[in-house]
Amino acid sequence: MSQGFITALYLAAGILFIMSLGGLSAQSSARRGNTYGVIGMLIALAITAFGAVHSYSLLIIAVGVGGSIGAVLARRVQMTAMPELVAALHSFVGAAAVLVGLASYLHGTTFPTRAEAVIHEVEIFLGVFVGAITFTGSIVAFGKLRGLLRSKPLILPQRHWMNLSVLAACLVMGAKFISASGTGGLVPLLVMMVLAGLLGVHLVMAIGGADMPVVVSMLNSYSGWAAAAAGFMLDNDLLIITGALVGSSGAILSYIMCHAMNRSFISVILGGFGADEGAAPAARASGEPQGEVTPISPSDTATLLEDARSVVIIPGYGMAVAQAQYPLYEIARHLKARGVTVRFAIHPVAGRLPGHMNVLLAEAKVPYDIVLEMEEVNADFPSTDVALVIGANDIVNPGALDDPSSPIYGMPVLEVWKSTTAIVMKRSMASGYAGVENPLFFKENTRMLFGDAKKNVDAILTELRANASLSAA
Ligand code: NDP
Repeated sequence: MSQGFITALYLAAGILFIMSLGGLSAQSSARRGNTYGVIGMLIALAITAFGAVHSYSLLIIAVGVGGSIGAVLARRVQMTAMPELVAALHSFVGAAAVLVGLASYLHGTTFPTRAEAVIHEVEIFLGVFVGAITFTGSIVAFGKLRGLLRSKPLILPQRHWMNLSVLAACLVMGAKFISASGTGGLVPLLVMMVLAGLLGVHLVMAIGGADMPVVVSMLNSYSGWAAAAAGFMLDNDLLIITGALVGSSGAILSYIMCHAMNRSFISVILGGFGADEGAAPAARASGEPQGEVTPISPSDTATLLEDARSVVIIPGYGMAVAQAQYPLYEIARHLKARGVTVRFAIHPVAGRLPGHMNVLLAEAKVPYDIVLEMEEVNADFPSTDVALVIGANDIVNPGALDDPSSPIYGMPVLEVWKSTTAIVMKRSMASGYAGVENPLFFKENTRMLFGDAKKNVDAILTELRANASLSAA
């Protein structure tokens, strides 16, 4: 295959990836976007297989093993476990960048000038640095998302100075690495790899539960830059384009998430730099209950919904766990047929991955025009009769607005307590992902509908249908 032809195909694949991202930016065009991405990836694989690979047996084994594991995982993974899978996949990209960097260095390519050799060494150094941070940071993120590690931030004394010292030590290793001749820079490279790995662990350990969405998108961005660095080392244009696309789109997503959660982008990147270290989430989470709650039955919930003029449904992680979106939409349809205005309100970090609730509601065929973003709906709660909170907790916590000692203070939330009645569906008084108690449950106009969300939604639907047939008879 001629180099010109390979470059043209790389360019075509790169354009398809850009079109894929464009398609994925709206639900209505997401399927088309996915198709562009698949075609682009097939082209990329084909060029690599036919243009750059010398040992087909190794390639077949690698693609066979990797492809089979991927297929089994994709079939088995629950939607609720998606974020941890994504974190695990980011760690693979990080590990790949580290391995490519080490192999590229040990390969010992000779360059005509010292300047070119130095550029190549800088590429290797940066690739291993970003790759190691991505690898260990993603493993910690995986542990936190899977519940293997506690979600509370690890606040070590002088942690920012520790991070700075590690960074300074990496720079010293960088100078030693560049000035070494032959493969004599291997030791400083490996020392830097270990230091960067520790930095990745510490940066992500220092981030609290509620800020995890930003960490996941940030690691996504890092994995892109790690792939781009590998592209430079391997002199592969497509890898550079793809890595830069993932890196920049992940950075933009992190920025959007930070904006939505009212967090400083720089602070989160630097492992919570500037966060109030005096806040004690543990004390709050385990604190005494803040008062009495008022339970409600599915039948009384159905009556309240039928008598309402305006209902806003707020789905959260618990709806995803219970898979209650299908009967929930049936309720919405039933109420709409009775003349009730029903809308869904989506918080940007509801669930466990960006767009989680949008995907579930789209799955249940809820029309896009009744699915509103937080900013579009928050001002409407005072004129809402019933706010139906289903398996959501942190995203409707008033403490985020009025309790400066709360770990989620400053995060905009859906202000459901301003509606006439807020009904919260959950199984117990347990806290949400951030581990913070929720004062909403104790408010006078809040009713708690305890139990599995799917069972309760089914019970409400049965009640609504029974009432409808009674009044029709
Ligand atoms: P939360 O985790 O705050 O709360 C979910 C609630 O659902 C729990 O309190 C739980 O209470 C309830 N629940 C669980 N299973 C069921 C069930 N079967 N039936 C009924 N209720 C159930 O979720 P939110 O969506 O409110 O907030 C998302 C949180 O996750 C935020 O803190 C966010 O920062 C974080 N996060 C978000 C990510 C993203 O990208 N969106 C990524 C990583 C973290 P109980 O056990 O009592 O039933």
